[in-house]
Amino acid sequence: MGTYALTNANTGEVEQKFDSINPSEIPGIIDTADKAYQEWHKKPATERAAVLTKAAGIFRDRSAELAEIIGKEMGKPVNDAKDEIELVANIFEWYADHAEELLEDEKLDAKGAPTNLVRHESMGVLIGVMPWNFPYYQLARFSAPNLLLGNTILMKQASICPVSSAKFEEVLSEAGLTDGAYQNLYLNAEDVETVLEDFRVKGASVTGSERAGTAVAMAAAKNVKKSVMELGGNDPAIVLDSVKDVAKVAQKLTFLRFANAGQVCTSPKRVIVLESIYDEFVQAAVETAQSVKVGDASDESTQMGPLSSEGARDEAVERIAQAVKDGATLHFGGEKLDRPGWFMSPAVLTGVDFDADLSCNELFGPALVIYKVKNEEEAIEFANNSEYGLQASVWTDDVEHGFEVADQLVTGMALVNEHVTTQADLPFGGVNKSGYGRELTQWGFYEFSNEKLIRGG
Ligand code: NDP
Repeated sequence: MGTYALTNANTGEVEQKFDSINPSEIPGIIDTADKAYQEWHKKPATERAAVLTKAAGIFRDRSAELAEIIGKEMGKPVNDAKDEIELVANIFEWYADHAEELLEDEKLDAKGAPTNLVRHESMGVLIGVMPWNFPYYQLARFSAPNLLLGNTILMKQASICPVSSAKFEEVLSEAGLTDGAYQNLYLNAEDVETVLEDFRVKGASVTGSERAGTAVAMAAAKNVKKSVMELGGNDPAIVLDSVKDVAKVAQKLTFLRFANAGQVCTSPKRVIVLESIYDEFVQAAVETAQSVKVGDASDESTQMGPLSSEGARDEAVERIAQAVKDGATLHFGGEKLDRPGWFMSPAVLTGVDFDADLSCNELFGPALVIYKVKNEEEAIEFANNSEYGLQASVWTDDVEHGFEVADQLVTGMALVNEHVTTQADLPFGGVNKSGYGRELTQWGFYEFSNEKLIRGG
């Protein structure tokens, strides 16, 4: 577990360090959040929505400055960082624009009394435990719906992102949020449980590893509190032989796999290709990987920056090397680059067994693993042979059939001819070990709402 520090992923230099919270400070922090809750949730919804709208504008205005920070903290290329900040602004705006319909009472057609309705009420203080891979988006995804609802937020962002997480709080404050309604906390991971033991804290949301999710879910359960878990995936992308432009699909999936240096929960980690188009697919994927421009995150032409930390880079390199020892073919990349910072070359692998480490366990790094299958049935069977179930995709020129195949995939999100999709107006979440609950849109909005029955008359 980390100490809060900004270590520049492009150079490996520690640039700033921050003191983490002493457990004795936790009751005072929750007092502040609870007092803020008493004020914030009583404000008219239009006022809360106006703060969200203002925040969206500030995120856009400060995009360049905010992008530079995460370029250092976790190595995101500057143009990708700006796209992430635009997505954040869209999320805040989406909730502000839908405030009225989301908060409207739902009338029920029930027998025995004239008034029957469900009111969407806030619950109180919530804690978010978030990861470094999308340092602003992950915070927005949890905080925007809950602030609109009237909940207040304690946020524990990953210890490698202390500057961006403080900036996020600053933007909300500048937008006019009630003091204490969103607190960025340099909280040690082991102290999340202490926060959840306090009666005034009503729930927790985690995005991250299964290890972190399990720890927080257990602490929440022990205190009878709701949790939402987004714990990654080993997403399959099935490429069917109806695809005519095989090279184009190969290029697309290769770039998607290397986006954010492969550190994306919905990255296509198992690319499953029908045998008749397999050779052409592999060749195009390898050529694409060779063309990827790896470089400093601040360089506008960089397509893949460094990984988020030395540990993340070393783990990816080691697991790729182990896969090769176990019999896989490495067509390109997978090596540390001889320069400061947490750089490696993007890798393309084939010949990985269906039950090997990379087939069963998420690799959070730039490794495109391509599998050959005889037919569609085998593709579906392998796609579903996973403990995860986040996103899956089917690639085909027969779109109608693509949706039929997508229907057979056991995931929270099944797409045709696209992958890694996340946007403000679509729900997001998985099944099985990918977690539970949904984020974004109305499904994310009601996760931490007291769906209160009002009846009688
Ligand atoms: P972690 O799950 O350790 O980090 C995510 C967040 O959880 C951080 O804020 C971290 O805090 C916190 N955390 C870690 N352990 C605990 C705990 N026991 N109790 C409470 N909070 C905890 O991810 P890593 O950075 O270690 O990455 C490991 C793997 O997790 C990746 O290789 C990938 O497979 C998966 N992952 C998935 C993500 C996704 O988008 N679904 C995002 C990130 C990682 P701190 O930084 O202080 O340790």
